[in-house]
Amino acid sequence: MIVMSSNDSSTVMEERRSNDESNNPELLKKTKTSYDVIIIGAGPAGYTAGIYCARARHETLIISGLLPGGQLMNTTDVENYPGFDEGIMGPDLMLTMRKQAEKMNTTIIDDVVVNVDFRNKPFKVLTGSEEFEAKAVIICTGATPRKIGIEGEETFAGKGVSYCATCDGAFFRNQDIAVVGGGDSCMEEATFLTKFATKVHIIHRRDTFRASKIMQERALNNEKIQVHWNSVVKDIKGNEKVQQVILTDVKTNEETALNMSGVFVAIGHEPNTSLFKNQVEMNENGYIVQKENTETSVKGVFTAGDVHDHRYRQAVTAAGYGCMAAIDVDKYLAETK
Ligand code: NAP
Repeated sequence: MIVMSSNDSSTVMEERRSNDESNNPELLKKTKTSYDVIIIGAGPAGYTAGIYCARARHETLIISGLLPGGQLMNTTDVENYPGFDEGIMGPDLMLTMRKQAEKMNTTIIDDVVVNVDFRNKPFKVLTGSEEFEAKAVIICTGATPRKIGIEGEETFAGKGVSYCATCDGAFFRNQDIAVVGGGDSCMEEATFLTKFATKVHIIHRRDTFRASKIMQERALNNEKIQVHWNSVVKDIKGNEKVQQVILTDVKTNEETALNMSGVFVAIGHEPNTSLFKNQVEMNENGYIVQKENTETSVKGVFTAGDVHDHRYRQAVTAAGYGCMAAIDVDKYLAETK
């Protein structure tokens, strides 16, 4: 834990203030360390919370984390976010949300939070180089792609193994590739990858998909897609890059070797909550628990999006939760003034 004692932190804050003798408003804005609300994470939940908090005239800081924009930065067409009758590319949607948050006067810092201290008020949020304070915090850190957990996956990460079809699909033009999974992400990625690949093998551990009917149909009706039911990836082999995938049939134990140059892993996500261990209550899967509306087990700390929502996990629901958390923060700040 890198949490400073309140004496240490006030000294640092004083030093920062005395060093900042400029009246330049831009500089003042950049060196400000105390906010009404700090939002950790910048996906649909974080940006929406930012828009609502800043619009309610609360001084609002978003610290974006490693991937500003979140999971939608790795998505192609988003057809189900209301307001875009022709659909919109994930990164374009996130850039638009970011601009909207900035227009409302939200300060956005593209940095990573390394520690938090919610034991005392004001809450402390630390990046590698700064300590920030806030009266309220909204956790919007989302979730991260799950890994299969075999050796070859790690050996060939970035050398044929990928977690992002949008980012890497074009590298596999006219090649055979696999997509592991059985949910909507897998169907979406497999279908998208047929734009490039000669053949896409879906590898699924059961004999039915959990993906929505429409996404399944789209994939199953695509003649470039072949499904390997009841199959798991036992090994990934190659020299410099992926050359072969070894499948095991979970019913017969039979092994099959398929020659291919890419493996896309689309088997779900883990909530990004390690930062908040022992700070707020989580469930057995590590998702943050909402106690009253969007509030966590700590009064003044709220949460929104995939970091607590393992059921809906949609951009629009994350944005909705961001709005809800911001409204709850507004009420909390009014009550605790
Ligand atoms: P998901 O629905 O949790 O599906 C994960 C899939 O991976 C399941 O089929 C699961 O198999 C399989 N799996 C999990 N761990 C595995 C392992 N270790 N080895 C092999 N297979 C494994 O995750 P998702 O597809 O990422 O979707 C997440 C949420 O986002 C869903 O609510 C989905 O509807 C939504 N989503 C929506 C869209 C869209 O509407 N455009 C696109 C993408 C995602 P089992 O079925 O056997 O458990």
